[in-house]
This record gives sequence, C-alpha cells and structure tokens, in this order.
Amino acid sequence: MKYHIVTYGCQMNKNDSRRIMHLFDLSGFVEASEEEADFIIVNACSVRGRVVDKIRGKINNIPKEKTLILTGCVLESDMKEMREKFDYILKIKNLHQWHKKIKQLKKITGGKDYFQIEAKREKPTAHVPVMTGCDNFCSYCAVPYVRGRERSRPAEEIISETSELVEKGFKEIWLLGQNVNSYNKGKKPDFPDLLEKVNNLKGDFWIRFTSSHPKDFSDKLIEKMKNCEKVTDYLNLPLQSGDDEMLKKMNRPYNIEQYRKIVDKIRKEIPGITLSTDIIVGFPGETKKAFLNTKKILKEIRFDMAYIARYSPRPETKATQMEDNITDKEKKERAKELTAVLKKTALEKNRSKLGKKVRFLAYDSGKKSTTGKTEGYKTIKVEGGLKEGEFYKAEVVEATSFGLKGKLIKND
Ligand code: SAM
Ligand code: SF4
Repeated sequence: MKYHIVTYGCQMNKNDSRRIMHLFDLSGFVEASEEEADFIIVNACSVRGRVVDKIRGKINNIPKEKTLILTGCVLESDMKEMREKFDYILKIKNLHQWHKKIKQLKKITGGKDYFQIEAKREKPTAHVPVMTGCDNFCSYCAVPYVRGRERSRPAEEIISETSELVEKGFKEIWLLGQNVNSYNKGKKPDFPDLLEKVNNLKGDFWIRFTSSHPKDFSDKLIEKMKNCEKVTDYLNLPLQSGDDEMLKKMNRPYNIEQYRKIVDKIRKEIPGITLSTDIIVGFPGETKKAFLNTKKILKEIRFDMAYIARYSPRPETKATQMEDNITDKEKKERAKELTAVLKKTALEKNRSKLGKKVRFLAYDSGKKSTTGKTEGYKTIKVEGGLKEGEFYKAEVVEATSFGLKGKLIKND
C-alpha cells in the first residue's frame, strides 16, 4: 500500500504531517506520488483563510478508488462542507487512535496521545512540539477552536526526544507551540527553564522556538536566550497591529508601548538579534489612521522579517460578529504598502551584516553553490558544494532584502 500526504499550514501542521507519515510507515505503507498512492491524506489549515476552495481544487481530479483522508486545523464548518468528498475525516489529536477507524493501520503500542507517535524526520532540522492548543482566543483566530485548549507536554518527554535527535545528528531543533511562553502555565519548569534544560544537552546544535506571545514574554526568557549558547539569536514576536484600539478589538492584551519596551530590552541584551513579526491588515474597523500606526511602528522597529496576512473572517471566532468592512482591494493595497516598508528595513538589517563572520548550517548543496541559514535565521548562499547538515563559517560579502551572500572561511 502506498500513501501521499498534502500539507497546508504552519510548522505545527508540517510537523503533524511528519507524525502521520511515521504512523503510515510503521504500518507498512510506502510514501509515493499522488498518482501512485492508494491513500491520500490532506492535512489542511483553516487558520488564515477558507481551505475548502483549495481542497476542492486539489481533490476534484483524484480517482474514486483512492482512499481520501482529511485532517488538520480544520474548522467544523469547513469539515461539514467536505464530508461528502472524503472517506475519512479524522482529528489530528486522535492520531494515535486512527487505527480504530482505518483497518490498514497498525496500533502503535504505548501511544497515549498523538505526541507519542514519533515524527518522520529529515536532517538537519527537527521540530519538537512542547505544547499544543491555545487559551488566548484572539478574536480573529481559529486555533483555539481547531486545536482546543492549551496542553503542555511533560518536560522529560521533550528532553528525551531532543536528546535522541541530537544523538542522531540533528543540528537545528525547533521547539514548537502556539504560545510557547505559557508552557506549563508558568509552573515549574516554565518555558525559560525548559530552554535551559534543552541547552544543557551535550552536542553541537542550535535551538529555535516559535510562537511567542508578547503578553507572556518575560525578562527571565530574555536572560535565558542571552545566556544559553545554543539558543539562536532569532525571535518571532507577533505584533498583529500597531494600533492600540485594534489590539483591543483583536483581544491581544498588550499595547504598543509595552511591545516597544520588550523589543528595546531584547535588543539591549542580545544586540544583532533577528526580529520577525506577524501582522494582520484589514481587520474589521481598521481605519486609515489605525493602518498608518502599523506602518509607523514597522518603520520604527525595523523588523528583519514580517509575515503579513490579509484579514479573513473565520467562522466561530468573535471577530465574525464585527463587520468585515475593508474591501479585498484595500487589504491588498495595505499589505503591499507594508511589504515595501519591510523590504527596506530587511535590506538595512541584512546590510548591517556585511563584513561580519557568521556561522551557518548548510541545507542544500549543489556542485556550484550551497544555501543555508545563519544563526539569525537569514538565508545565506556561498560558492561551492558543502556537506549538507554541517555547520560552516562565512564572511558576509553581499546583502539583499531576502538574504546574504557569503565567502566561505576555511578551517575555522
Ligand atoms: N500564536 C501566534 C500569535 O500569538 O500570534 C500566531 C499563530 S497563528 C496560527 C499564525 C498567524 O496567522 C497569526 O500570527 C496571524 O497573523 C495569522 N492569522 C490568524 N488568524 C487570521 C485571520 N483570521 N486572518 C488573517 N490572518 C490570521
Ligand atoms: Fe491564535 Fe492568538 Fe492563540 Fe496565536 S495566541 S494561536 S493568534 S488565539
């Protein structure tokens, strides 16, 4: 039997797909192309927009004899629309019990929840979920409805999984959760303690984490980021809007002044850190003035990177009760304006690396060049083929808005 998996969504979804792959592999299936596969699994995401249209486009031409499974962060309303199209609609959090529904799958012994099903991984990067779900209920967001309430994974489990990965030669460990800073709800070990524990594992590897909610971003976390040598100088800190009124309507319990203070502290303690953010444009009631406040703060903070999303009403969320009064055309315009600001600040930030020596992890190597990521999560390209999954050093010789070019430093 052969399977093929199609994934939409964030790193959490991609990691879930890798768990699904492992379950199918253990059951004797072989990964294959869409054409060859007997089972096609669609792991979809309703968070940023309607997935129904995308899925429909994807599955309409799939022959009837193939078995179709739908899973992922899909809202109930989207699932209902898809009921007729799929043979199985299964919850990802019940992955360890899928064998009860699909007879071709094996029971994975000892699996109490989906965390216990290992992910199929490819070096050098491995994602390790530390928590799942979210209790924050930002008014636009589907995550609490599709993933449920926050649940933290026992620290021992995270440490032993990470330790095995490092032993196997993984060099970049991402600790994942929708709001990692509220890991264990602040009880011991809290997220900064967890970072320290992972940092104390032996081996030469990098630690990254995402996502961080500004409301839970503590001084203790900054201190651990600064002092734990394996924790990389990269941080994604979603702002969502540069306007206090909008933040209130989004149910984001911080204001711009507080966000600014966190950024100032981080930059003071960890100079040169790469900062990225998430922004939503066209949220209900976003006036021109409110939008300009976002533009202003992007110019002021000078992010290295930003994920700019156009607001899309998600059924079941609070914001659907507000009028989606910004036209699509206007949302596109606003996104374009912010992208232009970002391109400038990204270029400036990347130029600040010119002449500097950076460590990078080689991802893709061809005969002529190798591409990788620096510690600050910037894309870097150097001439010549290198061993994928190894660390190297380079001097930065060119910078664009999208990345760096480096000259390899040999024997460093
Ligand atoms: N937990 C993170 C945080 O606190 O910001 C973000 C996780 S969310 C799954 C990823 C991003 O999707 C959000 O930061 C937001 O910018 C975007 N997003 C979520 N819901 C959205 C919606 N209804 N419309 C547009 N973008 C949305
Ligand atoms: Fe969604 Fe807000 Fe939770 Fe992030 S913190 S996952 S945006 S509800």
